[in-house]
Parts: sequence; C-alpha cells; structure tokens
Amino acid sequence: MAPVPVVEHQRRVALLLDAGNPTGLGAERIGTGDALGRVLAEPVTAPEALPSFDNSAMDGYAVRARDIAGASPDSPVDLPVAADIPAGAARGALEPGTAHRIMTGAPVPTGADAVVEVEETDGGTERVRIRAARAAGSFVRAAGSDVAVGQEVVAAGTLLGAAQLGALAALGVREVLVRRRPRVLLVSTGSELAADPLPESGQIRDSNSAMLAAAVADAGGEALRRRWVADDVPAFLDSLEESLAAHAPIDLVITSGGVSAGAYEVVKEALAPRGVAFGKVAMQPGMPQGAGSFAGTPVVCLPGNPVSALTSFEVFVRPALRRLLGHPVPDRPTATATLTEDLVSPDGKRQLRRGRWDRAAGTVAPWGPPGSGFLGWFAGADCLIDLPAEQTAVRAGEPVTVWDLLIG
Ligand code: AMP
Ligand code: MG
Repeated sequence: MAPVPVVEHQRRVALLLDAGNPTGLGAERIGTGDALGRVLAEPVTAPEALPSFDNSAMDGYAVRARDIAGASPDSPVDLPVAADIPAGAARGALEPGTAHRIMTGAPVPTGADAVVEVEETDGGTERVRIRAARAAGSFVRAAGSDVAVGQEVVAAGTLLGAAQLGALAALGVREVLVRRRPRVLLVSTGSELAADPLPESGQIRDSNSAMLAAAVADAGGEALRRRWVADDVPAFLDSLEESLAAHAPIDLVITSGGVSAGAYEVVKEALAPRGVAFGKVAMQPGMPQGAGSFAGTPVVCLPGNPVSALTSFEVFVRPALRRLLGHPVPDRPTATATLTEDLVSPDGKRQLRRGRWDRAAGTVAPWGPPGSGFLGWFAGADCLIDLPAEQTAVRAGEPVTVWDLLIG
C-alpha cells in the first residue's frame, strides 16, 4: 500500500480522539493554585468589583477638587491635613476645606473627589501647600472601573496563565471549572528493554516511556505508565487489558515499538486483528504508524526508535490531544529560518529533521544525522526542520520552515 500523506494520518488520529470522546473530555473543579496551564470550561464572572472601593492612584492628598480650583505655583492653596491614610487603612469622611494625606491604594475618603500628587505639594503633615489644581476624579481609581460586579472576567476556553490567575486572586475566586486532562496510557514494547543494572549485553533502558510521559504532560495530558511489555502477543494483550481496567477511564493508549516490517512486531500482530489499522506514512522519521481503537479506547501506535516515536508524537498526537483539551493553540508555532548547510531529503517523504535555531540570526542548522536512533542529538535540538515531501534538496542560504519546540 502506498504511504499516506502526513496530513491524512494527522486527520485520522484527530478523528479517532474525537470519536473516542464524543462528548468532549468533561470538566473538573480545581483550586486556582493548581490551575496554571489548564483550559477554563465555564466563564468566570466577577463576584465583586475591581477595585472594590475608590482608591488613590498616587501618593498625595485627597481633597475636594473645588477647594484647590485656583491652585498654581504662584498662588498655592494651603489646607489643614486632617487625617493620614496609609494603604490598608480607612479613615472618616473628609470635611470641606481640609486635605487627607493618602498613599497609593488607600481608600479615598467620602467627601473627597480628587487626589493631588505629593510632587505638586510641599509634603506637609500638619498643613499642606498645594501648587496645582486637579479636576474631580483625578488620580482616583473608581470602584468597578477595572471589573464590574457580574462581568465576565475570564471567558470559557481561556488558557489560564499568570494574568488570569492574578485577576481571579484579586476577585477572591479560589476554584475554577477546567477541562479534564486527557488520561493517556503508555505501553512500551520490546524484549530488549530492561531495568538497571542492565543484566545482559543486547539490552537497553526504556527511554520511550519517560520521553512520552514528559511529552504527554507537556501537551496538557496525564500520563499513566506501566513497565514495558516483552515482544509476546498474549502478554501484551493481557497487560493492555489489565492496564485499561486498572486506570480507567483512559482517553488514549499510546504504544511504542513493534509496528514495522520485521519479525516479532508485537503491537501489529496483537492489534491488527483487533481493529487497529497499520500502514506507512510518507514521513521521515516515523514511517510505520498505527491507529484505531481497542475495546472502544483510541490507540495510537508509534514506532519504537526514540527519535521516530517523539517526532511522531509531535506530528500526530500532540496537536490532537491539545485540540481535544480545547487548547487555543493546538499546533507548535512555526517560522521561517535560513538553512546554514545543504540538506537532502528523500523524494516523496515529508522530512522532519532536528535543528538548532539561532533565533536572533534567523538561521537554522541541521542537528545530527537523519537516522531515527540519534536521541542524544535530539536532546541538543530545539526545533524541527520541516521539508515538504516533494523537496529533495535544500541549499544553504535557502529558507525552510521550522517548528518551535521551545514554545507552545
Ligand atoms: P521497534 O519499532 O520495536 O522495531 O524498535 C525500533 C528500535 O527502537 C529498536 O532499536 C529498539 O530497541 C528501539 N526501541 C524500541 N522501544 C524502545 C524504548 N521503549 N526505549 C528505547 N528504545 C526503544
Ligand atoms: Mg521492538
């Protein structure tokens, strides 16, 4: 079967996740202290006004505007200072013909309608000499001037960041309804995988589980990991069923390894007869892929080579997971950068090469060889260079598209 284009498999994985979660992910109420990076599921309306009382925008003197109407450097106005109002304090009403010394954020006393900045005065504490007139309302932050009671202050679908959490803290909102995080079960396969100390030569540590768990968490999901499973079909199926039951509900299963054309392709052998489609995607790395559902749960099967596994996650799984979450920016941001050296690319395959992007210079250097086993090189990269399927060579100095792996 001819390899399918990348976009087709992307669509397949996205549809699979949507179909597996027909009513969306649902929502949960959590404390705002845990809500950074979560997507708001219902709007937050302000339970109180912001600011909640008229307060001073400057250090200075609260006055009646009409009492200082004629003030100027040549004809200053002197007023008795009847009270001192630090931030956090409240004093009585201001009598006509007097001033209250007031600090930024302190409540403007009733009777006062303006604040004159300390810079326009002599700073007196018994009496104050005021050298400038100020209109009513000057330097007064009126109650509700930022947020009115009942106003929608954060819309549903907003990604909660510092500004949103700050506004909620100011309003005394301590809990929010957010989209539930997708629960992702990770199953690495390979009879060569072993724990420390590695017992025999020929065995390796399971890097995909740690890597994909980090990728899932970074995409906004919750990763559930089991120990890897050997290349044994009955053992794989048992482990999968047991994990699905033990960690229910699972929104997505991601397997790694066992999907290519060799012998002992455990994932393919186990899942191809059970509703998961396997085939080739016109991409390098990450040509063998699988997607479907097992016992009603969406399953995405990634190749085992670590670079292929992570690149496949970036291309197929990450955007679909984030779309499911209602994330406002499901895809990595892309940019154009100038290639620093010549690159070749196989005809008919979209290539995603690791790169190092000099953001200031606008240049990108291929980072490491094209092969899919070079995880150490991937660890030094900060972007993917995206070469279209039909492009077979790019010269140094030509523009290429890069995916920013540091943002998003
Ligand atoms: P496979 O897709 O199962 O044929 O694996 C391809 C290559 O990736 C082999 O060299 C495997 O040893 C390696 N590999 C597979 N799974 C993992 C894993 N979880 N951690 C590290 N390497 C792996
Ligand atoms: Mg394997």
